[in-house]
Amino acid sequence: MSYDSVIVGGGIIGLSIGWRACQLGLSVLVLDRSNPPNAASAVAAGMLAPVTEATFGEEGLLRLNLESARRWPAFAEELSFSSGMHLADHERGIVHIALDRDQAEALRRLYDHQLSLGLEVEWLSSIACRRLEPGLHPSTRAGILARNDAAVDPRRVVEALQSAVRSGGGEIRHGAEVTEVEGPEPRVRLAGERVISAGSVVIAAGPWSGRVPGVPAYMSKAIRPVKGQILRLRSPASLPVPVSRVLRTEEIYLVPRPDGEVVLGATVEEKGFDTAPTAGGVFELLRAGDELLPGIREMELVEVRAGLRPGTPDNAPLLGPIAPGLIAATGHYRNGVLLAPVTADGIAELLAKGELPPELTGFDPQRFAR
Ligand SMILES: Cc1cc2nc3c(=O)[nH]c(=O)nc-3n(C[C@H](O)[C@H](O)[C@H](O)COP(=O)(O)OP(=O)(O)OC[C@H]3O[C@@H](n4cnc5c(N)ncnc54)[C@H](O)[C@@H]3O)c2cc1C
Repeated sequence: MSYDSVIVGGGIIGLSIGWRACQLGLSVLVLDRSNPPNAASAVAAGMLAPVTEATFGEEGLLRLNLESARRWPAFAEELSFSSGMHLADHERGIVHIALDRDQAEALRRLYDHQLSLGLEVEWLSSIACRRLEPGLHPSTRAGILARNDAAVDPRRVVEALQSAVRSGGGEIRHGAEVTEVEGPEPRVRLAGERVISAGSVVIAAGPWSGRVPGVPAYMSKAIRPVKGQILRLRSPASLPVPVSRVLRTEEIYLVPRPDGEVVLGATVEEKGFDTAPTAGGVFELLRAGDELLPGIREMELVEVRAGLRPGTPDNAPLLGPIAPGLIAATGHYRNGVLLAPVTADGIAELLAKGELPPELTGFDPQRFAR
């Protein structure tokens, strides 16, 4: 059995690459050992927030994030068409809120930094914040509005991608654990000793990417799991949803979905591959959520989950060849949903034409091999 491209990992990154590779006429097989609900892609909040999340010293990553955000509207529209699933338009604009004087001073420094990078941001007074979101805590001091930041529902996107891969002629197999990858004549071995050969093998296994047997040893040092606990809340039928746009503070964010659900996230924890939700994690999220928007107290707590972000030493992804016939598309850390379009376009181009487009060349995985 042979394919042009075999992709290890059926999260948002593996599926996006698979979809784009099908569109370029390649035969594609996506292998995933678990069902997608276990992947970070099914847990994520789905913020597309290059501006709100811009921090000091990550200008290269910011350029990639902005480019991917620019591609999202067309990506979503094409995906809606290919999958036959409507991906809801989400109201744009994310407000970063300061709740006390210290936070307001830190937010002002961030605002000045964002302005110096030429980003489109607007400073909001306390009154302006509460005019936008009347449910905000009365102690709200100030905010930054990033008008072009947005959010999507990653579960819907993953579902749409699965359908788009299949209708584009690709195959997806769940319950298919890759137990070894080999080059330079690329092959993957599945649990049960079946072997599949490929033109190229893409490692898109999220935080497990460094653990797929056969990948270069440096990959296991470059990729680590970073645990994130996250809650889903819903208003009872008798009450309105207390928030209408994405809000974030230095501790948490609230992401309202068009169906009335509100996502409250997320912790950032170095706990290895542990994905157990904890009382402490849930408590801290609810405490910080209540400080931002007291109306969440009335909401029903409908889900508690934890996922693993694929972290890297410089917070930037690994995109490109790692060995003859083996390509990495991993390490997207907090931005895997945001970075899906630019990653998929670039890696599919590499698979089809043998060349990485210039926007991805700064993310060579070999930087961790030295
Ligand atoms: C709480 C939380 C909130 C987040 N919020 C956001 C956000 O708002 N915006 C944003 O852009 N990003 C966000 N992220 C980050 C984002 O979710 C990740 O960067 C992204 O999902 C990574 O996607 P992936 O496809 O690389 O990995 P995953 O989604 O983890 O998928 C990897 C897949 O590989 C499979 N796999 C692993 N090993 C093997 C093997 N040997 N054989 C076969 N299959 C294998 C796994 O089963 C898994 O399904 C968040 C993450 C978390 C945890």
